[in-house]
Amino acid sequence: MPASLLQRSLAAVWHPCSQMKHHETLPPVPVVAGKGPWLITGDGKQVLDGISSWWVNLFGHCNPRINAALREQLDRLEHAMLAGFTHPPVVELSERLAALTNGALGHAFYASDGASATEIALKMSFHAWRNRGLPQKNRFLCLENSYHGETVGALAVTDVALFREAYAPLVRRAEALPSPDARRAAPGESAADTARRAAGALAAKLEAEGGRIAAFILEPLVQGAAGMAMYDPEYLRLARALCDRHRVHLICDEIAVGCGRTGTFFAHEQAGIRPDLLCLSKGLSGGYLPLSVVLCRDEIFRAFYDDDVRRGFLHSHSYTGNPLACRAALATLDIFDEDDVLAANRERAAWLGRLLAEAFSGHAAVRHLRQRGMIAAFDVEGAPKDFSRRFFAAALDARALLRPIGNTVYFMPPYVMNEPELRALAQAAAHALECALA
Ligand SMILES: *Cc1c(COP(=O)(O)O)cnc(C)c1O
Repeated sequence: MPASLLQRSLAAVWHPCSQMKHHETLPPVPVVAGKGPWLITGDGKQVLDGISSWWVNLFGHCNPRINAALREQLDRLEHAMLAGFTHPPVVELSERLAALTNGALGHAFYASDGASATEIALKMSFHAWRNRGLPQKNRFLCLENSYHGETVGALAVTDVALFREAYAPLVRRAEALPSPDARRAAPGESAADTARRAAGALAAKLEAEGGRIAAFILEPLVQGAAGMAMYDPEYLRLARALCDRHRVHLICDEIAVGCGRTGTFFAHEQAGIRPDLLCLSKGLSGGYLPLSVVLCRDEIFRAFYDDDVRRGFLHSHSYTGNPLACRAALATLDIFDEDDVLAANRERAAWLGRLLAEAFSGHAAVRHLRQRGMIAAFDVEGAPKDFSRRFFAAALDARALLRPIGNTVYFMPPYVMNEPELRALAQAAAHALECALA
């Protein structure tokens, strides 16, 4: 790859979630191809994609089955507007997603990215209460360290200071409640105890202000961008019961934790509950195309069903329900069925856990080695200020893509990594940890 491509990239492309000046010392890596869990860089190097390209890829890069489905769809229909029109991929996908919730969330509203799904869920919740004569229910609750996207609306329920603080004057901030993060356990407390203690704060808040609150939004089981904060499903059971008691919608943001990531297809299933609104994106299209969806209960849908256009949900995006993206999602769901992926992932997750325990459990700097399905993480004590970038660079040298969040190293591999590849990933991480701490 000629150096000039990098120079052109740095001049013309503004990269996300980056301080562009840092690229003076650590330039972006040109990727020219992908195959399974590997990314192939401009200089012909193969890099193991240990974080599924920002948590989106499920079945590897250039998956032959998803490629074939997309090629077929491409020659049939690339796009048509969804207002006033419909098409087979969007209908099929909506039916199959509804079936995955056993019909509990039977109405699907589409957008193209996760932040828009958050915005849709918030607007839908508020508007549903308004249509029911309760416009005073216009506030939202979220968890401490929550992340639900970075548009101005989604930032209201995102509690990561780094993303929110600069824009504080633009944002109508929701209240953040204590997180059930199991790392916060008091001495002698179990993860379930910690969850119950956090739910106590939710109970008090709803008791005092439930009448003003439209919805409580959370990521079930794992708060991803918070640094893979994991918590006991007991919190979800209690939150569900409290939201029911106080007539508050429960929004599950499964943009990161959905699509099998935590071991079940939806993370909330592990608590035996259903949310009122469910946001999906990232892995939904197998990591191929921008697609997000909000699934909702019939009761919410019914609140909008009326002769009056203003009582309808008038939200829209140009690419709502794009047929190519929906077809990629359908091909992804086919793979889940045909390969019994959730069962295969139980074994894969066990390999990952074993390999990480071997490599890190006795390490003097490693704290809170933890795992939920296909997500594993640990925190690093005594990490230098630029730990994340140093670790990332050292991991790349060892042919792995790993990008810590602050001092949290995490693994979120695609569901095609075999045991030798997972071993190579763990070894690259061990090498990177020593380099970053040196
Ligand atoms: C990534 C993410 C979002 C935002 O999705 P974008 O497509 O990046 O806008 C929202 N919520 C969670 C939990 C996420 O992980």
